[in-house]
Amino acid sequence: MGLEVHAQLLTKSKLFCGDSTSFGADPNTQVGVISLAHPGTLPKLNKKAIELAIKLGLTLNCTIEKSNYFARKNYFYPDLPKGYQISQHTVPICKGGNVKILTNKAIPLNRIHIEEDAGKSIHDIDENYTCIDLNRAGTPLVEIVTEPAIHSSEDAFLFLTELRKTLRWLDVCDGNMEEGSMRCDANISIRLKGEKTLGKRVEVKNLNSIKNVKRAIEIEFERLIGLTENNQQIIQETRSFDADKNITFSLRSKEDADDYRYFADPDLPPFHISESDLEGIKNSIPELPEQLKDKYISMYQLSEYDASQICIDKEDVVFFEDLIKETNHYKAIVNWMIGPIKHYCNEKNISIKSFPLSIKKIAELINFTESGKVSFSNASIKVLPYLLENPQKNPEEVTYSLNLLKESNNDTLEIWIEEVLNSMPEKVKEYKKGKKGLMGMFAGEVKKKSNGKADMQLVNQLLLEKLK
Ligand code: MN
Repeated sequence: MGLEVHAQLLTKSKLFCGDSTSFGADPNTQVGVISLAHPGTLPKLNKKAIELAIKLGLTLNCTIEKSNYFARKNYFYPDLPKGYQISQHTVPICKGGNVKILTNKAIPLNRIHIEEDAGKSIHDIDENYTCIDLNRAGTPLVEIVTEPAIHSSEDAFLFLTELRKTLRWLDVCDGNMEEGSMRCDANISIRLKGEKTLGKRVEVKNLNSIKNVKRAIEIEFERLIGLTENNQQIIQETRSFDADKNITFSLRSKEDADDYRYFADPDLPPFHISESDLEGIKNSIPELPEQLKDKYISMYQLSEYDASQICIDKEDVVFFEDLIKETNHYKAIVNWMIGPIKHYCNEKNISIKSFPLSIKKIAELINFTESGKVSFSNASIKVLPYLLENPQKNPEEVTYSLNLLKESNNDTLEIWIEEVLNSMPEKVKEYKKGKKGLMGMFAGEVKKKSNGKADMQLVNQLLLEKLK
């Protein structure tokens, strides 16, 4: 398989004019004379689009083609106002490169080129007519083309997941497949074991989620094998995936390669990327998840697991980086972030950057909890919600006023332990006969009795002595 991914670049305006690219506007409201291809209009290149494409290419280890030009790709389609698409032909902005999908596996890329998007044909509004919305016409895209080097639906899934993560991390594309800002076509062919040449190629289009790409590949793969085993011909064609019926169906046959009559667009001068442009773009690339993960492991002694949890999302990284400016309890920061804070955000359906408590206040709570005066469970279950309601209070006040100060007095702890052990003599007998796993239950009962306030390290110590 080879995959082609079209990704909309996150520019404010279109590739060759100032029309807005924002999603969801009323149809045909973001269409100036250039988007509409009025005669006599001239395109002008949006520099930001080039920068974003190069940013992606450098991150994916591509070679950047510095002397460059745009070409016309001629074909007729109702939502393509000019009758041609401005694209790149012989010199894609990025050549080669790869996307790492596992530590020891990378999918090689053939190229990444820049081109403009077409408008949208809408077939399901009117009974008799196709409606055309040209808002999207002229929106900048990168087309990312892999080598035909993907051999399983699982690898295709991992490739798209990693690619989308990178696009989002770099702020190159929002990666929203449902809204069409990232689209994937799959070219699939099979060959018998031992054969050198691949069979006829089938292209599957209209795949609107990563999961659907995986499903469509599996279904198409089965279909191609079925045809071959029944001695039937595979037709070179373009097919579409119907996710509800779980089938692919033919859109059009593709006997010969299309003749696009490419030539350099005479309305746009060739462009050149200077060394200093390249240097500037290189410097704008943020640290990548893998690099950050390694940094966090070595600088803050986080485990591999904890570090990778923080590095899934860029927002988490920003949150973590803000917190380490206020407190150096790094492991505790991770526990709070992936525990109570994430939990709260999921429940309220907000992103972590909208968490209502200030970074300073969260750091205070972490520091106070780490000082040992309140247990983590009471801090997260009782103090945190109280602080969310009363953000002007501080964690220490709240702990005192809710009577949650950790109990470390031996005499008090021993009374609770005594009560717990007396209430379950059978269990104590079992423990003494060797059922050591019961220790956790005894400790849990003491914790309950203390209202979560007992210093559990001390409790475990005292329990061990008592049960000897
Ligand atoms: Mn394309």
